[in-house]
Amino acid sequence: MRAIVLDGRGSVELTELPEPVAGTFDVIIAPEAVGICGTDLHLCHGDYPTGKFPVVPGHEFAGTVISVGSGVSRFKIGDRVCVDPNVACGNCEQCRLGAVNLCHHLVPIGVTSSGACAELVSVPEKVVY
Ligand SMILES: [Zn+2]
Ligand SMILES: [Zn+2]
Repeated sequence: MRAIVLDGRGSVELTELPEPVAGTFDVIIAPEAVGICGTDLHLCHGDYPTGKFPVVPGHEFAGTVISVGSGVSRFKIGDRVCVDPNVACGNCEQCRLGAVNLCHHLVPIGVTSSGACAELVSVPEKVVY
């Protein structure tokens, strides 16, 4: 699939990557709209402290479900969805207190894991709406 990849040193490359395969509780989405925000600009320049490179950016997006893992129950192929890009662990002290935005093991889609500036993106069902 085509994807944008940032190297964290100023390079923005359109390249080919393998298509994601849905894990048991994952949803594969074909993004149709992707926002570009200040975080993305910082990622481009490599001055976003928690960025993990190389990375496919794109954390503000909506699209259509094209496949789901065997454990996914709330979505089906063809559903039009959006995503909360901050994937909290659900187990740490902050998560148990309900402060999932302060999760010690937060995985921000498009910052430390592959985002939506690609033909397909895989995300956990729990952050899909
Ligand atoms: Zn943003
Ligand atoms: Zn947590």
